[in-house]
Amino acid sequence: MSADCIFCSIVDGDIPARTVHETDDVLAFLDANPLAPGHTLVIPKAHAQHVGDLDDDLASDLFAAVTELTPRVQAAVDAEGANVGINDGEAAGQEVPHVHVHVIPRFEGDGGAP
Ligand code: 5GP
Ligand code: ZN
Repeated sequence: MSADCIFCSIVDGDIPARTVHETDDVLAFLDANPLAPGHTLVIPKAHAQHVGDLDDDLASDLFAAVTELTPRVQAAVDAEGANVGINDGEAAGQEVPHVHVHVIPRFEGDGGAP
C-alpha cells in the first residue's frame, strides 16, 4: 500500500467503492465518474504505479480478471463492445498513480473510442 493513494484506500476499505469482482490479488470496482454505464476499473491490490512495475504473476492475474470481467460487464449493461485500456504515465492521461485497467462498455452509435 502507498500512503495517499486513492486506490490503495479503496483496497483497504477506507474509501467506499462498488466492487464488482475480487480475488486475493485483484479488485474490480465501478468508476466514480463513468464514461459509460458499467465503466469498471480493474486493479492489482498491491500498489504499483506503472504496468512495467508489475511482476509476471500479478500481470497475469490482472489480465485474467480483465478477460473474465469484460464480457460480464458488457452483458450487465447490454453493450455491444468495450474499450479495454490502461493510461500508463501522466503524459498518457494517468491521473491515479496506481495501475488500473479501464473496461468501458460501448454501444452502437455512441461515438466510438474515447
Ligand atoms: P486515469 O485517468 O488515471 O486513467 O483514470 C482514473 C479513473 O479513476 C477515472 O476514470 C476516475 O473517474 C476514477 N476515479 C478517481 N477517483 C476515484 C474514486 O475515488 N473512486 C472510484 N471508484 N473511481 C475513481
Ligand atoms: Zn495504490
